[in-house]
Amino acid sequence: MPNPDTQKTPETADTRPSNFIRDIIAGHMDAQRFGGKVHTRFPPEPNGYLHIGHAKSIAVNFETAADYGGKCNLRFDDTNPIKEEQEYIDAIIQDIRWLGYDWEDRLFYASDYFDQLYEWAVQLVKQGKAYVDHLSPEEIREYRGTLTEPGKDSPYRNRSVEENLDLLERMRKGEFKEGECVLRAKIDMESPNINLRDPVMYRILHAAHHRTGDKWCIYPTYDWAHGQSDSIEGITHSICTLEFEDHRPLYDWYLNQLGVHHPQQIEFARLNLSYTVLSKRKLIRLVQEGRVAGWDDPRMPTISGMRRRGYPPAAIRTFANHVGVTKTNTVIELQLLEYFIRQHLNLHALRKMAVLKPLRVVIENYPEDQVEEMDAINNPEDEAAGTRKVPFSRVLYIEQDDFMEDPPKKFYRLAPGREVRLRNAYFVTCTDVIKDEDGNVVELRCTYDPATRGGDSPDGRKVKATLHWVSAAHALEAEVRLYDTLFTKENPNETGEGEDFTDFINPESLVVLEKCYIEPSLAGAEPGSRFQFERQGYFCVDPDSRDEKLVFNRTVPLKDTWAKLKKKQNK
Ligand code: ATP
Ligand code: MG
Repeated sequence: MPNPDTQKTPETADTRPSNFIRDIIAGHMDAQRFGGKVHTRFPPEPNGYLHIGHAKSIAVNFETAADYGGKCNLRFDDTNPIKEEQEYIDAIIQDIRWLGYDWEDRLFYASDYFDQLYEWAVQLVKQGKAYVDHLSPEEIREYRGTLTEPGKDSPYRNRSVEENLDLLERMRKGEFKEGECVLRAKIDMESPNINLRDPVMYRILHAAHHRTGDKWCIYPTYDWAHGQSDSIEGITHSICTLEFEDHRPLYDWYLNQLGVHHPQQIEFARLNLSYTVLSKRKLIRLVQEGRVAGWDDPRMPTISGMRRRGYPPAAIRTFANHVGVTKTNTVIELQLLEYFIRQHLNLHALRKMAVLKPLRVVIENYPEDQVEEMDAINNPEDEAAGTRKVPFSRVLYIEQDDFMEDPPKKFYRLAPGREVRLRNAYFVTCTDVIKDEDGNVVELRCTYDPATRGGDSPDGRKVKATLHWVSAAHALEAEVRLYDTLFTKENPNETGEGEDFTDFINPESLVVLEKCYIEPSLAGAEPGSRFQFERQGYFCVDPDSRDEKLVFNRTVPLKDTWAKLKKKQNK
């Protein structure tokens, strides 16, 4: 796998690797189509929070435009008042900003164009290209036919222009009930493309819209609004996902009938991630059924979840650009995303010592009242990050997993009679093991070698392990939340008879460690700040964090070689 941090970041149309979208645009630039301009848009429906798939689409739209000196709009395709909420709009705006993209003053809403869309609908009626249909929704479905059978004309299909104009006007005025009638385009009920079988343009919804209030009781369908909205904004390249390929002939038809600016639609494959669901319908269920704590639960593949988890926006962008655009649907491994997260954090996160599952250690030959300030390097990848002092004293905590009373071969950490290094401090040897009445190890007794201060032995003596630790008297208590994949199944979207994707939710996707000990330099760490806990992984301060008790989310583990080894042995 290429290392994104040692590779030069390609930044312009000339240096970035080519892909099929760029090839198409380059062709248009050469031919001076659209006057040598590139103008894209990201068009979310405000009916949910953005997820990592959207991040890819955002990156494609904003970065493709930027590479050609063009612009990218943010437009909410807010045509369905029933499912849309201001909360979603606010969250989407916050998330795109956080990802690092800027639409300047070009924030638009499809609802801004409701008047224009209505005028255009009237125009199509006048051209004999649209009609009011009084079939019920069920009948419309029945008449539409199937993939193998052609549809049938509605008995209302040949109403006169005058009658249609009158009925459309009355629809708009609210004279009909929901479902009583719709406006349909008059295209071809026998078309092999079902999208062209007289698609619905307007339906009646007696519902207030979050932006237009009660002005309308008829709302354009997504298909009627989307292409025209792009046209109004002068979009040159309407980049979208593959499922819209079959809608392109319809969008083309509308634009051609109206004789207005005609963007070029280009489709690419959706991003899918292993162990993840990305359909908004499914994500909404996870939230509404309380299977996660909310849209920003760190286990969610949403941008807000990833932010809370500690994913740096730059790493998400690098990932999105790395996976690139293709024409075939594939599932990208979650590990690849995590790889980019680790790469970024390795370069930027300050190192700290934190003991997640504490085991008390008493250094018997260390003076009772003595405290030494040991020097620790903040980030070996970044000299400018400097060093800090970490207090060392007679009573410490180490990780329970770093000790075994009866160690198997290849377990090199602490064991009775064995010497190891305490990072940045001393060599210590375990001399005694103290247990409770159930036989659990509750404390270790050790001795230290004063000649090994800083972690080096003057006589060249070697130890096989270096452990992290904190001083019991100085450590802060913290809660640490460990996350695993939300699903146990590699592709939770694949469900058999009688199965639901929620059947595969991982019961161990969240493990809370309530009493961890962290080094005192973490006092006052701000929510959102990210650290490497040495030998453990990368962690981010949660918004739930309080001065009295910090709360950390594990962003990603470091690669745990011991766990891997154990797995291999168990096979
Ligand atoms: P749904 O999941 O209900 O189909 P959606 O994900 O299409 O909704 P939109 O708000 O319409 O939600 O998406 C905005 C844009 O993001 C669209 O252009 C869509 O094609 C794109 N997009 C959505 N999901 C992905 C994905 N997984 N990968 C890449 N692009 C995506
Ligand atoms: Mg959509």
